[in-house]
Amino acid sequence: MTRCTEPSAEAPREPLAPALYITATPIGNRGDITLRALEVLARADHLLCEDTRVTRKLLGLYGLSRPLTAYHDHNAESMRPKVLAWIVAGESVALVSDAGTPLISDPGFKLARACRAAGLAVTALPGASAALAALAVAGLPTDRFLFLGFLAPKSAARRAELAEVAAVRASLVVYESPRRLAGLLADAAAVLPGRDAVVCRELTKLFEEAVAAPVEDLAARYAEAGPPKGEVVVVIGPPSERNLAWSDEQVDEALTRALAAGSVKDAAAEVAAASGRPRQELYRRAMRLRGGDRR
Ligand code: SAM
Repeated sequence: MTRCTEPSAEAPREPLAPALYITATPIGNRGDITLRALEVLARADHLLCEDTRVTRKLLGLYGLSRPLTAYHDHNAESMRPKVLAWIVAGESVALVSDAGTPLISDPGFKLARACRAAGLAVTALPGASAALAALAVAGLPTDRFLFLGFLAPKSAARRAELAEVAAVRASLVVYESPRRLAGLLADAAAVLPGRDAVVCRELTKLFEEAVAAPVEDLAARYAEAGPPKGEVVVVIGPPSERNLAWSDEQVDEALTRALAAGSVKDAAAEVAAASGRPRQELYRRAMRLRGGDRR
């Protein structure tokens, strides 16, 4: 492990302007940090991080040793007023997560919102994010993409989430733990059949790989192989015209889900919008599913 920079004796240490500095850190390769991020990490009055042990280790790679304050899901409510008070008092606060860009499936969104609402400056130090790295290597369309973050852990809820976006003409980017990868791919194969997909693993690290195949093949591969080592992002390609032609079975599944939440009229309208099928046909199907067809 090599240090990327040594702190210089002449390095300027004048105070930073008071603000929340949302600072990206590497997702694996320690070279992927910006000069500006190193500067802010060296100079901010306060460094907020998810896990002080992880960030202490990271800072050590760059020859930095700074006091750290934990900011995570369990203390965020109580920390927010303190952080706002620091910035109001003229101090600078850098927020980092364990890896990648804070706020992207990581804590910080409510803090940024609270700072903005209080009229305080919020600025981003962009850098690594697994979502963009995955899109960059997947070889699937990047002109439109939808970031889904982590989907629900249970299959039924996850299928419903995938069904909701089935008609979206964009690549889908999903974060998942290796343990749940096979389950996610099985659900994607059921709900988004025929789509191209790529499992991007260990991005920017030594054993980086991108495995591309139709989603059914990936589901079979990982069901057999078991959980892979390391971290993964799944990118699913946009639907082709053929993918968008819903089968009767898919239509009835979507109607049944929509009927559980609303009226026949609303269910027909919702599924008509998603599937492109005529609303009258869907109304008749929904009536039949609800047992209201008296023909
Ligand atoms: N904020 C981070 C970002 O900007 O990418 C994401 C944090 S989220 C808690 C962690 C998830 O990101 C992992 O479960 C995995 O899906 C993805 N991830 C992070 N680093 C990765 C890497 N090097 N290769 C593949 N996926 C990665």
